[in-house]
Amino acid sequence: MTVVTDVLRQSVVVFSQNYLPMSRVNIKRAIVLLVTGKAQALDFSIGNGHLVRSPSTNIHVPEQIRLTFGNRERVWKVPPVNRREVLRRDAHACQYCCSNRHLTLDHVMPRSKGGPHTWDNVVTACEGCNSRTGAIELP
Ligand SMILES: [Zn+2]
Repeated sequence: MTVVTDVLRQSVVVFSQNYLPMSRVNIKRAIVLLVTGKAQALDFSIGNGHLVRSPSTNIHVPEQIRLTFGNRERVWKVPPVNRREVLRRDAHACQYCCSNRHLTLDHVMPRSKGGPHTWDNVVTACEGCNSRTGAIELP
């Protein structure tokens, strides 16, 4: 059994209303958010969490909580697409032929067809594949 004072040093992960991880708070803060209805438990598996015992009651505090209100000031910002990070994500290999030479970034859905410059539309491609995919005309 965990001693209360140890439990109180634990932290809880806070997710935004739309399930994006935002920050960690200590367990006292998490309890306040839960009892005031500003957050709800977000436990994916049984047995996670911390049991906080007080003389009058036992509170089960999950390891993850989700805010029940929108927080406009702290909107999750996706960082802009960055060549170095795309290469790292794709393990420095062309996503079409696995070559690791003459790497460029390719838009899966071409920019000319309205493909966005976003993480899920940008892949690592060698120069050869990049120019080939660019030439493919979709029916
Ligand atoms: Zn290639």
